[in-house]
Amino acid sequence: MKTYHHIDSLRETLNRERAAGKRIGFVPTMGNLHDAHLELVKLARETNDIVVCSIFVNGLQFGLNEDWDKYPRTLMEDSQKLQGVGCDYLFNPDDNEMYPNGLDTQSRVICPTMTDVLCGASRPGHFEGVTTVVTKLFNIVQPHEAVFGIKDFQQLAVIRRMVEDLCMGIQITAAPIHREIDGLAMSSRNGFITEEERPKVSQLNKSLNWVKDHIEAGRRDFGDLGDEARQQIEDAGFRVDYFSVCNSKTLAPAADDDRNITILGAMFTAGARLIDNVSTNLTEGE
Ligand code: AMP
Repeated sequence: MKTYHHIDSLRETLNRERAAGKRIGFVPTMGNLHDAHLELVKLARETNDIVVCSIFVNGLQFGLNEDWDKYPRTLMEDSQKLQGVGCDYLFNPDDNEMYPNGLDTQSRVICPTMTDVLCGASRPGHFEGVTTVVTKLFNIVQPHEAVFGIKDFQQLAVIRRMVEDLCMGIQITAAPIHREIDGLAMSSRNGFITEEERPKVSQLNKSLNWVKDHIEAGRRDFGDLGDEARQQIEDAGFRVDYFSVCNSKTLAPAADDDRNITILGAMFTAGARLIDNVSTNLTEGE
């Protein structure tokens, strides 16, 4: 695997690959890679000749009081893991390479739908930072396909919409959520969970599934279900950021006759904010 820190040299290499007819798959990440990230790389491997992974902790998507400065940076270990799953090129730019004119005057990409609810409500400007950096990375790598995890369900929906709206012509592939044995979704932020909290944090996933089971059994009082789930999570000792039963396509609160439903939740531990979601496709008559 070859590592690039500069846009120009990566571009030169990828132009050559493209000219040779190679199909390029791309996996953008913020590093501190775990098994879920590696599954994304393996998925990209299956349908592409070349796989590019990026590691960049994007300041533009972090709020002022968020964890940009303490976000784990583990480049050496990450490189070894990527080599182990057959990644061809790692792109690891620094802030100056990505934002040479600084953040304040950086041109932005704005997706006006689905970005001010759920994670967007508690992290104002977050998705603008995501769509801007993903557009920049897409322009640099110019992949045929990019792989994103369903764990960040809202991010995936926003990126799909951006790619469609801006005619980017990139295939977006969704990778299933990779979990620990007790259901906790893998995340670079799981390293911030204390030993004492660890046995209890899977409550978020348990409550999401509890709501899903009740919906599949016919309940449609989504508000009440959400309230009960919130209480379960609070009883386990965590502050709930949001817990919402949504239409999977629009991320609006689900209506009684919606068939594709996604339940999304976020909660705070002492040192991290964790997110998760589960989806259900109801067949007629359920
Ligand atoms: P991050 O480095 O956290 O920005 O994540 C990079 C990519 O990995 C995103 O597309 C995430 O959705 C995906 N990802 C992170 N954790 C998981 C997980 N547990 N399961 C599936 N995809 C994940």
